[in-house]
Amino acid sequence: MAGIYIHIPFCKQRCRYCAFYSTTQHKQQQHYTDALCHELLSRKNYIKGETIETIYLGGGTPSLLNEEQLTKILNTIEKEYTVSPTAERTIECNPDDLTPAYTVMLRSKGFNRISMGIQSFSDEQLKKLGRRHTADSARKAVENARIAGFNNISIDLMFALPGSTAEEWHHTLKEAIALHPDHISAYNLTYEEGTPLYNALQKGEVKELTEEENLEQFNTLIEELKSAGYRHYEISNFALPGRESRHNSSYWNDTPYIGCGAGAHSYDGTSRGWNIADISIYIKGINENSPVFEIEHLSNEERYNDAILTRLRTADGLPTEWVKEKFGDTLFNYMQKAARKEVATGNLRETPDGTLVLTEKGIFVSDAVIREFIFI
Ligand code: SF4
Repeated sequence: MAGIYIHIPFCKQRCRYCAFYSTTQHKQQQHYTDALCHELLSRKNYIKGETIETIYLGGGTPSLLNEEQLTKILNTIEKEYTVSPTAERTIECNPDDLTPAYTVMLRSKGFNRISMGIQSFSDEQLKKLGRRHTADSARKAVENARIAGFNNISIDLMFALPGSTAEEWHHTLKEAIALHPDHISAYNLTYEEGTPLYNALQKGEVKELTEEENLEQFNTLIEELKSAGYRHYEISNFALPGRESRHNSSYWNDTPYIGCGAGAHSYDGTSRGWNIADISIYIKGINENSPVFEIEHLSNEERYNDAILTRLRTADGLPTEWVKEKFGDTLFNYMQKAARKEVATGNLRETPDGTLVLTEKGIFVSDAVIREFIFI
């Protein structure tokens, strides 16, 4: 079992909060697609013939690719890899790109899941964030996706937006729930150094929420989505029954994946690798058969830390016996020491079968809890 991640680092415009690598220079889109397909072909042994259970096109904005470019990528995957007929095939989209014709085309290409960056249902906030869509175009995009036959739709939201009120956040959640998406990811806005939003904060042009207001919005998020029937299966992720993202889940289930494209990461069970985050160098490297790819072999302690970082964030938690079997007695004892402390403070609970799970209280201080477990 394995996954494929394809990175499409093109955006029509840069969002004001974004620190990810992406470019608004579209001239290279075709050369980039060709290089991607070349990489898919040349690195196919990376996942050692495992069946592909998830394909994920992320970005950037994959919905900027045209039909021909998407077809080329998907055909290369189908030809060079063994893809399960029930594979989850996700494409990240900007709501503005999801016209009726484009959405029908995506469905006809075999995508069965759309992940849409909506962020907010306040047009004022969307403007502040530099998003190119409106609340109304987001609603229309979800409708178009449903009409085209998508029955697995995920939306992204952001809380703690600059100067946002509890009422505004409540409104966004109400609008989101009314659309009945199958999956909702919700992230806390962070002001990343070097971004226009960070600079605006420094100049006092926007107001950051207090820690208390921030936690209150996180609490509202959990309460409202739970009462609407969503399972809070990972700190930032909520799903209707059976609609958990298989792609996300593979990260914390230690599933190998190959990541193709500029800046994409890969994992084969024992090492992590990543491509250079520069489109021109990436294309040149692939074309000259000398890809700019770095690799890091993971020690037992690093793999333990990765498992802690991902599994403790999930509702399924961290099975202690699994830690013992996989990482040995020393790390198991290290984990147990942290677990005793966090269980005593009520941030964690241990289930009868020996799994450590964050409590409702622990979810709000998860970073601090996880830090206790990290082996330094
Ligand atoms: S669309 Fe996504 S990747 Fe592109 S600038 Fe906005 S947040 Fe960043």
